[in-house]
Formats: sequence, structure tokens, C-alpha cells
Amino acid sequence: MSKVDFNKETGPREVFCGLTSIVWLHRRMPDAFFLVVGSRTCAHLIQSAAGVMIFAEPRFGTAILEEKDLAGLADAHEELNRVVNDLISRRPEIKTLFLVGSCPSEVIKLDLATVAEKLNTQFSGQVRFVNYSGSGIETTFTQGEDGALKALVPLMESTDDKKLLLVGTLANNVEDRFKKIFNNIGINNVESFPPRNSTELPKIGKNTKVLLTQPYLSETIRDLKHRGCEIIYAPFPLGVEGSTKWFLAAADAFKINELKVHEVIAPLANRARQALEKHTEILRGKKLFLLPESQLEISLARFLHNECEMDLIEVGTPYLNKDLMEQELNLLPDDTKIVEGQHVEKQLDRVRATNPDLVVCGMGLANPLEAEGISTKWSIEMVFSPIHGIDQAADLAGLFSRPLKRNQILTSKTLATH
Ligand code: SF4
Repeated sequence: MSKVDFNKETGPREVFCGLTSIVWLHRRMPDAFFLVVGSRTCAHLIQSAAGVMIFAEPRFGTAILEEKDLAGLADAHEELNRVVNDLISRRPEIKTLFLVGSCPSEVIKLDLATVAEKLNTQFSGQVRFVNYSGSGIETTFTQGEDGALKALVPLMESTDDKKLLLVGTLANNVEDRFKKIFNNIGINNVESFPPRNSTELPKIGKNTKVLLTQPYLSETIRDLKHRGCEIIYAPFPLGVEGSTKWFLAAADAFKINELKVHEVIAPLANRARQALEKHTEILRGKKLFLLPESQLEISLARFLHNECEMDLIEVGTPYLNKDLMEQELNLLPDDTKIVEGQHVEKQLDRVRATNPDLVVCGMGLANPLEAEGISTKWSIEMVFSPIHGIDQAADLAGLFSRPLKRNQILTSKTLATH
């Protein structure tokens, strides 16, 4: 492992909760419905995070449970049953219903696993019910996806077929491009989890080789391993370097010569490097500070340093799974400061003291920092944008060069008016 400088920090945190992941999961599986069992705060969060869906046919909702409406636990179960029955009778197209727990104390008391089990019996053959927690207590927002996928693993049937399983939500067009590249390399049986339809879960077994597309799926990976799957450890497919190593790791697991991989991806990589140049011109030598939120921070730091020549001041991450991240850490420059966890006040002090050109952070911190004249980039944008793969490298760099360019323009306009 490279000699990065590991640090841990605990204290007040400023991150979104796991409910946020519903925003990209419901896009991925249009036949699923996400019913948040929560409070009015949860309803507000999910509606503002995914506001656009309110005007379309929504595939998420909130069963609002508040102490003052309920005399006891029996009432809460009754209320939840009423909401679910009403929903299923109005929306017969729902195939999988996720009951998503949250952190209000009245919800924590509910046994959602038992509720899901009873509903599975009642609606057998019509709708499948699974449950997971999107609670904001001790979790960060991408862990919502980990919880949702972990809940689906027991529903995946067994097979001994040899296959490559891509694990982690991808934009559909990115998934199509990845599959085409794998086919050209010589890996033909490639499936994705989560799939595009919640009822078409891939089968898994001892000949399933799992390649992660997202670094925040530790729990899901553990359960896939228990089902006999083999995990391919690799850097994540962000940028040319990460994506190339990701394809090479898959090829190696399928005993395909690496020359074949280079032959297939060389034209893509050349184009991507050229497209990156105009962003690197802006990003080169700029100081970058990543606050912990998405768990993508280490991969982003590697891309922005190695391919866009940014200087890393500090790389925060909410959690660090050293097994999954070892190859990424090896690609970082020696002495990179990694901070696992968060004490938001101390981190903000370090931001101010080091005067970075760009801070990657949560939405709640972005506005105050911008008000202090520090350019920011919302980390949540990385999970809403198609950033994976070689041909997306320039778009990924563009997410970081744009705020800096905007700042340059604003500064030059201000100077011109004085
Ligand atoms: S789950 Fe908890 S943190 Fe998330 S919106 Fe609901 S109350 Fe807030």
C-alpha cells in the first residue's frame, strides 16, 4: 500500500442521509416503488432532492408516522398497512416495494422486516416487499444504495454459469457502453446489479465474478461473497487510468491477455486524453480539498491529481474500506492526507487555513463556503451524473473545471469594473 497519511476524526457531521439514494435507484428500476416510513422531515428531504418527480408519476412516497398521530406501535403498523394497501390498489404496476426505514424514534421501534414478511404473504405473486434503512444516524447518503442492494441479494437465484456481474448503479447508456467494451474484449456474459427491472435480478453463484462500479457497497459485497461470488479488486472506473485498470482487472480474472484490452480501449483512451486537455489547463496546480460525503472522494482525488494535475490538500471520506480501496490508495501520491470520518468544525478550520482553490463538499456546506469566496462542487452531483468510463473522463473533469472557470470570469469582470 502507498504511504498515504491516514487520520481518523469524529465529531459533528454534515452529510445527507441514505434516503437520498432513492433518487437514483428509482430511476434505475422503474418498476419498483420506494415507500419511506418516516416523518415530515423525510418527506421534505425526498421531495426536494427529487423535486422533478413530483410533477411526473412518482415512484416514491412517504408514510408519515408521527408520535402525536399514533397511540402506540399497533397503530403504527395499522397505519403502514393502510398506506401500503391503498398504494397497491392504486398502482398495480408496482412489482417491488421497498419499505425504507428512517431515523425518527417512532420509526426505529417498528420491525419493518416483519411487516415486509407479512405483506409478502398477503400480496404473494403480485408484489415483492423488501426493507432496508435509509436512516441518517451514523450513515452517509450513498449507503442507502448499499442497504437497498443488500436487501435484494437473498432474492437472487443461484447459478453455476460463468459470468461477470457489474455491481452498483450505472446510467443506462454507460452500462451499454461497458457491456460493448467487455464483449469486444471477449467477456460476453455480463450482467448488472441493480438491473433495469427489479424483477429481473441476476442469478449468482461460485462462477460469478463481481466487479464493483461504486466504492460504497461494502455490505452488499460481503453478502455476495457469502453466496460464493468472487470479488475482483480494482480501482474504480473513473477517468482513463481508473477505467483502464478496471477493464484490465476483469480481463485478468477471465484469463484474457492484457494486449487485447489495450487494443480495444486505445482509441477511446487517446480521444479521452485529448478531450481532457482543456480541463487540465484550468485545473493544473489548483489546490483541492475534499470533505467527506459520498465515499467517492478517494477515486476522485486519484483522478484529479493523476490526470488533471491538481494538488491534493486533504482527502476526506466518511468510511474507509481498506480492502476495496487498496488499489486506489496505491495510486495516490505518497503522503496524501486521508481523513476518515468527520468533525465538521475542525475540517472547516483546515479549509480556511489552507485556502484551497476548490472544495468538494455536501450541499449544506457549499453555500457558506461560497459566501467566504471559496469555490465549491457538490459531491452529490457525482452520483447523479454519468461519470463512469473512459469516454466520460472529460465530462467528469468538466464538473470540477466549470466552477473554477466561472470564478475566473467573475473575478476578471469585477476587476474590469473597478
Ligand atoms: S431519515 Fe433521518 S436524517 Fe433522513 S430525512 Fe428522515 S429524519 Fe432526516
